[in-house]
Amino acid sequence: MSTLKDLFLEELEDMYDAEHRITKALPKLIQAATCNELKAALEKHLRETEGQIEKLERVFQTFGAEPERTKCPAMVGLLDEGDDIVSNNKNSPTINAAIISAAQKVEHYEIASYGTLQAWAKILGNEEAANLINEIEDQEKAADETLTDLAQEKNEEALEEAAPGAAKR
Ligand code: ZN
Ligand code: FE
Ligand code: FE
Ligand code: FE
Repeated sequence: MSTLKDLFLEELEDMYDAEHRITKALPKLIQAATCNELKAALEKHLRETEGQIEKLERVFQTFGAEPERTKCPAMVGLLDEGDDIVSNNKNSPTINAAIISAAQKVEHYEIASYGTLQAWAKILGNEEAANLINEIEDQEKAADETLTDLAQEKNEEALEEAAPGAAKR
């Protein structure tokens, strides 16, 4: 029988793996982006993600556990899909919109996962862990909002290239 603490640590290991995978994937998206604002937003989030790995290590510590990675199959899938959408839109005016869509799916998975982890840390009475997880979740939400703002502009650009005048109101 597993306890809520076991479940928490399994999910923590899953996200510890997911964040490592994201640090490998973001440089490819930064490279593929042709919009400087998008590149800058992804670079900022890459640095935050590296910091999140350290925050997660501190969360493990607060539970007296060693940081360990357990493969997150969902993140593998999201990043695979991201690779596909990016290669299918290379050299196209849709490239930035494609990158944003892939990145936002990653952010939403993270927001859902950290919301759960934060709730479990609180139930387990570990305020320090809950606070660290909350800091990470806030960064994911801010990254998602920045991408939403950029999406507006990039989607219009993609539309404009495909049919000049179409995005104008
Ligand atoms: Zn731009
Ligand atoms: Fe993250
Ligand atoms: Fe996962
Ligand atoms: Fe993120």
